[in-house]
Amino acid sequence: MRITANFDAGNIDVINVEDKKNIQLAIRPDFGGEFFQWFNFRMEAEVGEQYVLNIVNAGEASYLEGWDNYQAVASYDRQHWFRLPTSYKDGKLTIVADMDYESIQIAYFAPYSYEQHQDLLATVQMHPLACLEHLGETLDKRDLTLVKIGGSDSNNDANKRNIWIIARQHPGETMAEWLADGLMHSLLDEDNATAKLLLDKANFYIVPNMNPDGSVRGHLRTNAVGTNLNREWSSPSLEKSPEVFHVIHKMEQTGVDLFYDVHGDEALPFVFLAGSQGTPSYNDRLAQLRDRFSDVLKLASADFQSEFGYDVDAPGTANMTVATNWVAERFDCLANTLEMPFKDNDNVPDAATGWSPERSMKLGDASLIAMLAVVDDLR
Ligand code: ZN
Repeated sequence: MRITANFDAGNIDVINVEDKKNIQLAIRPDFGGEFFQWFNFRMEAEVGEQYVLNIVNAGEASYLEGWDNYQAVASYDRQHWFRLPTSYKDGKLTIVADMDYESIQIAYFAPYSYEQHQDLLATVQMHPLACLEHLGETLDKRDLTLVKIGGSDSNNDANKRNIWIIARQHPGETMAEWLADGLMHSLLDEDNATAKLLLDKANFYIVPNMNPDGSVRGHLRTNAVGTNLNREWSSPSLEKSPEVFHVIHKMEQTGVDLFYDVHGDEALPFVFLAGSQGTPSYNDRLAQLRDRFSDVLKLASADFQSEFGYDVDAPGTANMTVATNWVAERFDCLANTLEMPFKDNDNVPDAATGWSPERSMKLGDASLIAMLAVVDDLR
C-alpha cells in the first residue's frame, strides 16, 4: 500500500506504513510553522481490508476542539464525499478506512481544487452579466481574480448597491469556496427571481478564492509566506499580504454597501454569523440591518441559526485587522463573517456526510434571499 499527497492542496507526511493497523502520518504545517490542521491525501490499498491511520501530531494542531466529534471526509470518485469513523485520543487522530476500491482520498473537508477554481471562473465569465477582473498577483505568482456580476446597463451603476463577497481567506476552509460557487450559480440562474431582482438593485463583486497560494500549498490558514490574511486589513502590504492589498484597492474604487466574508470554523458544529458590533462607528442602522439579515437567513435556510456563535465584541473593542471589522468601519456598511462547520450542523445532522459541499452551495443560494431583504436599505 502507499500514501501520497503530491497533488493540488495535498498535505500529509508519511512516517510509517508498515502496519496496516497502525499507519503513522503527520500533518505538514503551513509555511512558518504557526498553523496546521488541513490534511488531504490519497491511499492506495487492498480492497476488502481495513486500515487504521493515526495522525500522530494532531495534538499540536491549531484547534484541538476541532477534533472533538470530528469525522474525516473521504471519497473514492472525488465527487461524492462521505465521513469515515474517526476518534481523537492522547494527541492522535485515528481514522478507520474499510477499502471498497483500491484508491481512497481522505481530507479534513471536501477539497475545492485550484483546477475547480479555474473551471468556475471560466464558466461564469461566459454569462452575459458576469465578467472577470485580474486584481493582481499573489506571492507565488497566481492570479487573484474578481468576478463582477451586474446588470447590462452600466450607466445605472451609480444608483446600484455594491455587494462584496470574499471566500477562503483561510485556504483550508474550502466550504467557503463551495458556498461562493453555489451563490454565483444561483445569481446567474435566469429562472431565479430573487437573483434577477437583486441584480436590478446591486452589483456583485465576488472573490471566490482570496488565498490561491495557501489553497494549492495545502495550508490551513495562511498564504505563501505564512501570513494570516484575516489579520492584515488595517495595514496590508505587497510583501506579506498582496491579496488583501489588491482587494482593498478595488473596494476603494467601487465602494462597499454590504460585505460577506465566508469562512469555516473548526470547533463549532453550527452555521453562524459574526458581525462588526465592536467597531467604533457601529450604530442602530447597522444593528437593524444585521438583525433583519440574520432573521431572513434563518427562514431561508434551516441550516442557519443565531443561538450559537462567537462572543460578541463589546462596543469599541473590535480587532480592526479583521476584514469584517475593517470594512464595516471604512465603508459604514453591513458586514458579516459567515462561519460554516467542518464537522456537522448539530441542529440538522447528517451522519453520512456531515456538513458538505452541497449544503454549503445551498447556503450560498439562501444567502441571496437575506441580501434581497436588506438591499433597499443598505445606504
Ligand atoms: Zn476562517
